[in-house]
Parts: sequence; structure tokens; C-alpha cells
Amino acid sequence: LQSTGIDLKKCLVYIGTKHGKEQVLGAALASLGIPSRVAAVDTDVFGTFAGEVERSGSVRETLRKKIDAVFFAHPEAQVALASEGSFVPHPVFHVVYSNHEALLMAWRDSPVELYVDELSLQTNFSTIKLRNNTLKDSEERKILESFLDQVKFPEHGLILKVTEEGGPVAKGIQSLARLEIEVAKALSSAPEATVTLQTDMRAHMNPTRMGVIAKAAEKLVMLLSAPCQSCKQFGFGPSKSYRGLPCRECGNASSWTKEVLWSCPHCRYEETRPREDGKTELDPWNCEFCNG
Ligand SMILES: [Zn+2]
Ligand SMILES: [Zn+2]
Repeated sequence: LQSTGIDLKKCLVYIGTKHGKEQVLGAALASLGIPSRVAAVDTDVFGTFAGEVERSGSVRETLRKKIDAVFFAHPEAQVALASEGSFVPHPVFHVVYSNHEALLMAWRDSPVELYVDELSLQTNFSTIKLRNNTLKDSEERKILESFLDQVKFPEHGLILKVTEEGGPVAKGIQSLARLEIEVAKALSSAPEATVTLQTDMRAHMNPTRMGVIAKAAEKLVMLLSAPCQSCKQFGFGPSKSYRGLPCRECGNASSWTKEVLWSCPHCRYEETRPREDGKTELDPWNCEFCNG
């Protein structure tokens, strides 16, 4: 088994981000003494939350494209870090949205890649439709005000659209005065006499999302500080999960994770480990056979 001999402290990490994410990502790397800088890459071409550019491909594929764009824009860069966020119905609690944030760190001339992700129910992702009398009618105004409270405006920004599918006519709205002006302007040109007010999910407009990115960054720090027992290099962590946690009642293998494969991205040393929460059996009320 061979080590790659990468010295983390000598790695200048190019962070491909447009929306201030280097605040948390750079700080996380700095906590380990790893220097970083922002890469001049327009990550919006890989998709935007506001819908101007549709995302395509899996999270991992999008991250890989962002990494490649950083290496292309900076021929001198040896290490790149990219991030990708999405807002999806939670896998278990389908009715609520969750924020998925993923990070990929990659080396130019090496197959070594570090991937971490964080799924959080902490998100203000939300939408409201406004009509012509929203700003005038006191009842309608109350509904708008409770929406603004709920999405933590104005610390969290808003965007405005005239159709749900189209791109925004205004972004980064962070004051009531500007909101009123933009809504009135948009309503006067809206074909359906309604406009859609939506949370701005760009990291610099959304402290809640920035917090979830920070959680993902903590996981990256843990991975960067986890040495492989075989080659002593960083990055030893979970890479694959095996389903089949048996039900305590009926004993059937469920779709829940039973064991996790931990591997080293440098020398490929592997180890199968039990679940981190120590669960060896599934509670019957979660069992698809007992409840099927
Ligand atoms: Zn190793
Ligand atoms: Zn069962």
C-alpha cells in the first residue's frame, strides 16, 4: 500500500464560489492551517436557485464540473473545493423541505477526492403569491407580514418573480421599502396580476443556509484530520453504506443502513464498521414488513 505523500499544509485550496461561502469554507480550512483563496469561477452557470439556469445531473456530477471549472480557470491550482446546495422534500418527513449541502475537495493530478454532505431541516425555503391588493388590504397585509416573520426577513433576502417558472425580476431584497417598490412595479407588468415572492437561497443572502454549509465544512475538517491507520494520510471516512438493518420483531432485512464501509482515498485501505449510532436492530414501527 502506497501513500500519496500529499502535505495538507502546503496545499493552497482554490474555493470555487460566488456567494461569500469562502467565509465559512476558508475559516474551516484555516482552522487546520490550510491556506485558501477564492477562485474566479462563475458557479451560476451550473444552476441557480432562482431558476434562471436549470441544474442538470447529480450533486456529485455538478460538484465535479465545478472542480473542473476551477482547474480550468486557474492552471496553477493543485487543489480545488466546490460546494453545491439544494432544497428537497425531506426523505423521511416528506411534507417539509430540507437543505442538502455537499462539498467536494479534489486534487488535480491525483484520484484523491473528499466528499462530505449535510442534510438539515433548518431552512426558510418558502414561497408566497401576492395579488394586486396585498399591500393595501389589511388582512392580506397580515398574511404577508407573517410570511416575512417566518422566513426571517430582512436578515434573509427575498426574490420576486412574475411567473413561477421564470427567472426573478428582483433579487437580494432586504428592506421593506425596497420590497414594496419592487412588488408594485412587478404587479403592474405581471400577466396574471399576481407575483411570487420567494426566499433568496444564495448563501450570502441566507444566514440559515450559511449555517448548514458551516456544518458540512465541520465534517470536511473532521475528514481532513482523520488519519488512515495504514498509510497515515488524511481523509479516512465513510464512503459507502450497506442496507439490511434487521427488524427486532420479524428479523427481516430492512432498507435501513446496517454497516458502513470506511475507506482511505489514498491507499484504498478499507474497513466495515457498524452504524455510528450503535443501532444493531430496527424498531418494528419503522419496519416495512411489520407495517406493510
Ligand atoms: Zn491510507
Ligand atoms: Zn419487522
